[in-house]
Amino acid sequence: MPAATLIDGKAIAAGLRAGVAAEVQRLKREYALTPGLAVVLVGDDPASEVYVRNKARQTVEVGMRSFEHKLSAMVGETELLELIGALNRADEVHGILVQLPLPAHIDSRKVIEAIDPAKDVDGFHPVNVGRLAIGERALVPCTPAGCLVLAKSVRPDLKGLEAVVVGRSNIVGKPVAHLLLREDCTVTLAHSRTRDLPAVVRRADLVVAAVGRPEMVRGDWIKPGAIVIDVGINRVAAPGGKGRLVGDVATAEASAVAGAITPVPGGVGPMTIACLLKNTVEAAIAALPSGPLED
Ligand code: NDP
Repeated sequence: MPAATLIDGKAIAAGLRAGVAAEVQRLKREYALTPGLAVVLVGDDPASEVYVRNKARQTVEVGMRSFEHKLSAMVGETELLELIGALNRADEVHGILVQLPLPAHIDSRKVIEAIDPAKDVDGFHPVNVGRLAIGERALVPCTPAGCLVLAKSVRPDLKGLEAVVVGRSNIVGKPVAHLLLREDCTVTLAHSRTRDLPAVVRRADLVVAAVGRPEMVRGDWIKPGAIVIDVGINRVAAPGGKGRLVGDVATAEASAVAGAITPVPGGVGPMTIACLLKNTVEAAIAALPSGPLED
């Protein structure tokens, strides 16, 4: 069996960012509009700080405005909700992202629901979740949107494919399943209570693994020629002490069987911020007095 095509998420994300940058230039030229993204970080979790820094850097690189709001871990819920209210009203802000997780004394649900759905570039507000579920125009969560772009990079028309999504979280598994349904796949959403998961995955022409368990999906679970999208990011022990990143799929085994597969790192990971930037541009376009352009 030939080795699977490696889906280069880094390159595809770079292409997406270039498209966003071109669109930003057009909006500046034709509408004197500069899309703006506000990122709110509460506390000083080092991993979250790295994400927020990367988001801000990439936002500026594509020509958009970045507004960073760093709040103390002790900030009260009311103060945070007031900031969200101010960002909702700010004309220069088209996208609002609150970095999760939030400290335990703050109700994340309340915060997400306070964001104007038109500026909810993370796609977590129940209005956007509902619109995606009923097939209406919505701001779609970034990692799931990235998974779809990667799958379509090797197979532009997914119609009729058997798709198995492993993992049913609100931020990855469920939105991925809705997106694939929208593409006319026959979708199975598997989870920890699924019976005989290997047999379920073996039916799939397209597998999306979003489980958070290192290399759980084995090579002999994969149907020959399938497309495999690995969302997992797991740090495992490695010689030298720093550890290494692996996905939810045993990549080496699966590559011998699959038709195409995403690596970890360098697959789904780089797509998330690129899709966030794309969502921000879409939100800015939708806010134009002429409204959103047609698909
Ligand atoms: P969650 O922990 O929220 O959800 C995991 C899902 O996997 C649950 O639905 C759970 O089932 C299911 N699951 C757990 N164990 C098994 C099992 N043994 N068999 C079958 N299903 C199982 O994780 P997330 O969705 O947030 O993230 C999943 C992975 O994706 C993680 O590795 C995370 O780091 C990564 N990730 C990567 C991103 C990126 O690339 N930018 C962004 C977000 C996440 P049940 O519901 O029954 O408990």
